[in-house]
Amino acid sequence: MLKQQVLRPVRAIVISPLPMPQCHQTVQPRRKSAAVAASRSTALAGPPKVQAIRRHRTSGLPTEGCYVAARDAVTTYVALGANLGDAAQALRQAVAAVRLLPLTQVTRTSSLYKTAPLEAGPSGEQRAPGGDYINAVIEVQTSLTAPEFLTELQRIELAAGRERPYINAPRTLDLDVLLYGRGSIDSKHLTVPHPRMMERAFVLVPLAEIAPALITAVQLQAVAHQ
Ligand code: ADP
Ligand code: MG
Repeated sequence: MLKQQVLRPVRAIVISPLPMPQCHQTVQPRRKSAAVAASRSTALAGPPKVQAIRRHRTSGLPTEGCYVAARDAVTTYVALGANLGDAAQALRQAVAAVRLLPLTQVTRTSSLYKTAPLEAGPSGEQRAPGGDYINAVIEVQTSLTAPEFLTELQRIELAAGRERPYINAPRTLDLDVLLYGRGSIDSKHLTVPHPRMMERAFVLVPLAEIAPALITAVQLQAVAHQ
């Protein structure tokens, strides 16, 4: 029997107004030089093609002068957790902050779950010091690269007052990338799929709520004792 208690759904929060179109330091689309363009149109001996104006995905406004996404959006899943201060409010603000990231949309939000802090002990998982956690998972579409996306999440953590005095310390906000598309990354600063996601009920239960096809009943059963 899962001990998570469902609190108010994240989706009930009041969302900030949509952001104005933003420029971002992502890949800039290649522009053909005038000479190359001229030689191509001569070679094709046809009328020059009219190039579509790129438009900001949210506002529909032209993005002239901005950097624009030069790759397709990737579906990612982010685990949110906090157990210091007003943790539920910290998670709501974090979702609002992710919504404001450039080239990024939040497409699904789980309920908020209240969970006891756990750490590995000599006889399995045991209660860790600190107050209960509030946890949730969100689904995000982003055209940021995985390292860019992690950097933005860490900036949101810092803005929420995140400190790391020791491993597994209580935290005002923790944002972990669970999955980045079908990508498998193992770098110094980023590992996806998140290496411990399958061991944690506070991740799997909210993830299964918004993306049931990603988690099997057997995987959920394996963490049901937590
Ligand atoms: P934890 O979330 O494990 O309690 P931290 O939030 O302090 O610990 O993160 C420690 C480091 O883990 C970060 O500096 C980050 O570079 C790294 N890291 C590696 N993979 C991931 C991931 N998938 N999501 C978030 N951080 C990650
Ligand atoms: Mg983390």
